[in-house]
Amino acid sequence: MGSNIIQCKQCGNPFKSAGGRMCPACMQEIENGFRKVANYLSIGDARFDPNVESIDELSERTGAAAWVILLLLREKRVVIRKPLKGGLTCRYCREPIALGDACDECSNKLAAQLATSKSARLPVMNPGSAKKYGVR
Ligand SMILES: [Zn+2]
Ligand SMILES: [Zn+2]
Repeated sequence: MGSNIIQCKQCGNPFKSAGGRMCPACMQEIENGFRKVANYLSIGDARFDPNVESIDELSERTGAAAWVILLLLREKRVVIRKPLKGGLTCRYCREPIALGDACDECSNKLAAQLATSKSARLPVMNPGSAKKYGVR
């Protein structure tokens, strides 16, 4: 128990951690950046400015640091519609993606895989018999 001194994953400064891997200054920068980007993206009905082509441009327009924007997109805390230059890539096939950590194709594949492994682990109940016996 207790907190230890670790190096911030982002800026490398040592800090007293209560479990997190980033220092309070970096956490603060993420929150500030989130507010800036969220404000910018929700202006009008444009959830995304079509003129912005890269993370750097978005960073310039919002004033949020590029690493903060990438982190927010990775965690899907802000939403954009198209992949940006210098932006995220699918962790499986390396295709550029707008947000999250996998492209649609790979997340579909993954979901299908998950569904099969789940049904393999769980006892399979015949939906027909479940209805007959009034099991919900
Ligand atoms: Zn830091
Ligand atoms: Zn992919």
